[in-house]
Amino acid sequence: CETTEKAYKSKIPEYFRVRPLSNKEIKAGDDSVVNFPGNGQVLVDGIPGGPSGGQKAKLFSYNVVFEPGATQEDVLQFSGMKRLIEMGVEGFRCTCFCYGQTGSGKTHTLTGPPGLLGIQTAPYSDKHGLVFRSFMYLFKLIQEQPGIHFVLKASYLEIYNEKVIDLLNPGSARKPLAVRWSKKARGFFVENLFTVDCEELDDLIAVLEEGLRNRSVGKHNMNDYSSRSHTILCVHITSEQPAEGGVFISRSGKINFVDLAGSEMTKKTQSEGKTLEEANNINKSLMVLGYCIASLSDSKRKNSHIPYRDSKLTKLLADSLAGNGVTLMIACISPAKSNIYETINTLRYAARAKKI
Ligand code: ADP
Ligand code: MG
Repeated sequence: CETTEKAYKSKIPEYFRVRPLSNKEIKAGDDSVVNFPGNGQVLVDGIPGGPSGGQKAKLFSYNVVFEPGATQEDVLQFSGMKRLIEMGVEGFRCTCFCYGQTGSGKTHTLTGPPGLLGIQTAPYSDKHGLVFRSFMYLFKLIQEQPGIHFVLKASYLEIYNEKVIDLLNPGSARKPLAVRWSKKARGFFVENLFTVDCEELDDLIAVLEEGLRNRSVGKHNMNDYSSRSHTILCVHITSEQPAEGGVFISRSGKINFVDLAGSEMTKKTQSEGKTLEEANNINKSLMVLGYCIASLSDSKRKNSHIPYRDSKLTKLLADSLAGNGVTLMIACISPAKSNIYETINTLRYAARAKKI
């Protein structure tokens, strides 16, 4: 699709998804301040601080915006996700991340509403998220290439307070895993991370379910916890294709699905005037990711140092952010007036990610 090709010419193509007002917001009389004039534009109304004490409006312009009526399937079809999966199969290192304040729809977009377990049973509902749909598309692609031998493996981890926890091995919460550099893999990896061979679609779905289940177990305040933690579900795709002369062409790609901590955490860190070292307890990873994206997107700083090594999250995403990697961002937004400042911050953050 043309918009997708256009979007991939920038380093980090970004898509927006505005969720509907929730019942709670409607009951509380909260208004929607996000409007869609067309052509990928987003108009935010009712911003305080206009002339003579009035309100002002701000117009943002992007490639693709998913309005509140958009379905989960629309997000698969009209974001760059299908192309990203194709590139993972072709041997690229790929990342799709959802960015946005807590409650903006990141988890809904990636995995669907909470409690959507037992999801193998076909036909799947229209609530199933992007990860599930991507798995289906991935298997379709593989089945269309019977001449190539594919091996899929999956892992699922969480980063909370700079500690890496294996979501497929909950015991690791007591002894967080180390992130190390491997010369052979030419990248960072998590030591002793459980990696599951996935021969069938159901195996991948089982990884997703197991991780989701372990993520929510034993957390006293799930909402506060999930707003501070990142999760990375990674599918490794290696393949061997027979070529002339009895040799094989080997490829090794991967696709990371990343549910980021709430973006309000970055601001909290900065407003408290903390240095990177001190930000540790709040959310260093998200702050460093912001620096990395800013450095990548600022042409003046393009050749300067990009601080991948400063956080676990950016170490693990470095190969898809840099070089031949591919990263796609879905910025999630609430339409509610009560969230207007976070909404504008998200629209700005994404605009920065675009300028590469
Ligand atoms: P986040 O992960 O960003 O904190 P959630 O995905 O948990 O946010 O979304 C907050 C609430 O809004 C959840 O109850 C979720 O089901 C609902 N929600 C989010 N996006 C949508 C959407 N596009 N359509 C319907 N409900 C949504
Ligand atoms: Mg969430």
